Amino acid sequence: MLITANDRLFVLTGAGISAESGLATFRGSGGLWNGYRVEEVATPEAWQHDPLLVWRFYSMRRRDALAAQPNAAHLALASYEQQLGDRFYLCTQNVDDLHERAGSVRVHHMHGTLFQSRCTRCDRVFPDQSFYESAAALPACSSCGAPVRPHIVWFGEIPLDMDAIDRQLNRATVLLVVGTSGSVYPAAGFVHIARQRGACTIYIGPEEPLNNGAFDQILLGAATEALPALLLHA
Ligand SMILES: [Zn+2]
Repeated sequence: MLITANDRLFVLTGAGISAESGLATFRGSGGLWNGYRVEEVATPEAWQHDPLLVWRFYSMRRRDALAAQPNAAHLALASYEQQLGDRFYLCTQNVDDLHERAGSVRVHHMHGTLFQSRCTRCDRVFPDQSFYESAAALPACSSCGAPVRPHIVWFGEIPLDMDAIDRQLNRATVLLVVGTSGSVYPAAGFVHIARQRGACTIYIGPEEPLNNGAFDQILLGAATEALPALLLHA
């Protein structure tokens, strides 16, 4: 991949890149996510119905993410950011912090982050690495006392800061999509927007994405292999 001084790179990453660090994905496990059905743990209705079950699930995901390590694909993206600086933008659908731990700085978590929590009343967001696994341990806001939820965009909720994403999509000359199947909108539509605006579009992942017709280039394979090789040619 050749990036000139005038190019701006927009990278979208999805569950596939974290899966290569051993983190479970919803798609990869027969409709279950570490044994949970998604409707039971990752929707506003689930939160209304059983906040303890939701917090048990996200506590488990916090444990899993803390035990995982960034892989060669995360590291390749971090080194690319070092070369491109402000001409690099990373938007991830992942809620783990593996990009940050690999050294990435310009990261936008469109679906929220595992290691922040948010007050359900005053919307205060704060860093949080705790585990909440019993009814007595469920967290309350230190400002207003209302229940605290994971700072995660659940199914049926709107992704964070779509305006910033749109601005970056407008400016990008190259869109690189890594490890996401093209089934979850709005992220699956980014490639259509970028292409309409004249950007070169590249996909990396183990299988053809559902929106494969919108890519100029499709590189099938593990991100940990394809990404470092791709970036070396820049
Ligand atoms: Zn509050």
